[in-house]
Amino acid sequence: MSDVLVIGGGHNGLVAACYLADAGLDVQLIEAREELGGATTSKEVFKGVGARLSRYSYLVSLLPDQIVTDLNLNFETISREISSFTPTADDRGLLISRKWDERTEQSFSTVGVGSDAKAWQDFYGEIAEAAPIIAETFLKPLPTREELRRALKPSTFSTLFTQPLGRSLSERFRSDLVRGIVLTDGLIGTFTDAFDRSLLANRCFLYHLVGNGTGEWRVPKGGMGALVDQLVARARTLGVKISPGVRAKSIESGEVFVEGSDHQMIRLKPRFIVAAISPREIDRLMGRSSHRPFAPGSQLKINMVLEKLPRLRSGVSPEDAFAGTFHFDEGMDEMQRAFAEASAGSLPRQIPAEIYSHTLADRSILDADLDKRGFHTLTLFALHTPYQLFTRGNESVKEEAKRRLLHQLNSYLEDPIEECLAKDEDGQFCIEVKSPFDLESELGLPEGNIFHGDLEFAFREESENLLWGSETRTENLFLAGAGARRGGGVSGIGGHNAAMSILEHLA
Ligand SMILES: Cc1cc2nc3c(=O)[nH]c(=O)nc-3n(C[C@H](O)[C@H](O)[C@H](O)COP(=O)(O)OP(=O)(O)OC[C@H]3O[C@@H](n4cnc5c(N)ncnc54)[C@H](O)[C@@H]3O)c2cc1C
Repeated sequence: MSDVLVIGGGHNGLVAACYLADAGLDVQLIEAREELGGATTSKEVFKGVGARLSRYSYLVSLLPDQIVTDLNLNFETISREISSFTPTADDRGLLISRKWDERTEQSFSTVGVGSDAKAWQDFYGEIAEAAPIIAETFLKPLPTREELRRALKPSTFSTLFTQPLGRSLSERFRSDLVRGIVLTDGLIGTFTDAFDRSLLANRCFLYHLVGNGTGEWRVPKGGMGALVDQLVARARTLGVKISPGVRAKSIESGEVFVEGSDHQMIRLKPRFIVAAISPREIDRLMGRSSHRPFAPGSQLKINMVLEKLPRLRSGVSPEDAFAGTFHFDEGMDEMQRAFAEASAGSLPRQIPAEIYSHTLADRSILDADLDKRGFHTLTLFALHTPYQLFTRGNESVKEEAKRRLLHQLNSYLEDPIEECLAKDEDGQFCIEVKSPFDLESELGLPEGNIFHGDLEFAFREESENLLWGSETRTENLFLAGAGARRGGGVSGIGGHNAAMSILEHLA
């Protein structure tokens, strides 16, 4: 009998396993798939094309440096100077540096949104003050709402935690283009109206703006799989027994029934269970019907390998335009319209989306030949394409969404994207589309929700019986996955906090 059974070999399960094994516990980890890493993997996706793509998640902000240091991981992330570029219909575009500079100032006035320049600096200035205060609590027991309120300026607390994001942005910015650029951080992987009283957009926005005290999104050197490789190596060094291809089938009275690839059913009775899986999967394993409704996954991810980067109609160099986030058709009004259309059951006529190129920051994911030939990778992340649209015919809806997105993108390009795409060894274009439906079937993400369910604010209400945010109704079972309070994204925070919960129990 092991001290701890970790169910789920995504990055959070691996982080929890490392901390617990490092504290001297006997840890076993099971992963249903043959491959470890869950949504944090790198893969050569296209036949005969030596590009290791971050197939699902691709940028890092929320992973605290402390976890990298504690676990002695040799994992680096790369900073980027340009934050975003947004082309406009009149063949201009707004280029924004990560730190406000003359070029950004000039770009705001060139595209006619100069009146929002000061509002932008004030808004992000306030968030920059709040970010380290909030991030500092992530690896500690949850603060209460009141404690966090007292630590922040009243106006910042209101923007982040009480007033719908759409309303704050309407009050603070005049231009729909600028409102949209800010709003996207509230809508990544989150299907909601920007003005909704549920504050779902605020919750998503919070985690996109405060990671590591800066909110900076950095490129994982070697791709997202490099993090998993490091975690797996560390876990093995610490003696964690890792079993891929083994699925938990049920949990009954503290016993876990697991099935391996040989279809043998085994009964395990660990002292503690770390569930690094979604809350919905836990309910299923315990034979309960799911009690927590959540918004469906609503993003489409398109992975591409290009022979060359496309030139833009705006004349901005592709090296600048794709260096940060390339937003297109993501004005606030456009996103509200897309949300309304998708809520009514249709694929939005114009799908809001953004793109980034890994290889402009890090070429180590390409083999020597592709590197020499100047190949690039592009990742497209589209919003407001909810799970339910794909249940009617995943392949045909994906095809139509791809057609619309490439058409939209091409309207900003001098070189159509089809002329830039590389081909695999069978002569097929190097492009793959992952819908929320695919994410559920491949990774077990419930309804394709990339955070395992709705994100929650990073505090507890006084009435909530939570300490670390990983406690569950079952005394020896701790939630470590993205669905734990503060657990969403590539952060390891869910894993760390579940491990700390257990170690505190033992102290
Ligand atoms: C397309 C996409 C893009 C994203 N982009 C980003 C990004 O750029 N940056 C970012 O920070 N976040 C991003 N995210 C979100 C982030 O990847 C996830 O929130 C995070 O990886 C979740 O990690 P996890 O370890 O909690 O769970 P997962 O990665 O979901 O891992 C859970 C594991 O549990 C296994 N499992 C499930 N059920 C069982 C069972 N019964 N028995 C055994 N094993 C089981 C699954 O196979 C899986 O491997 C993205 C996600 C997706 C899908």
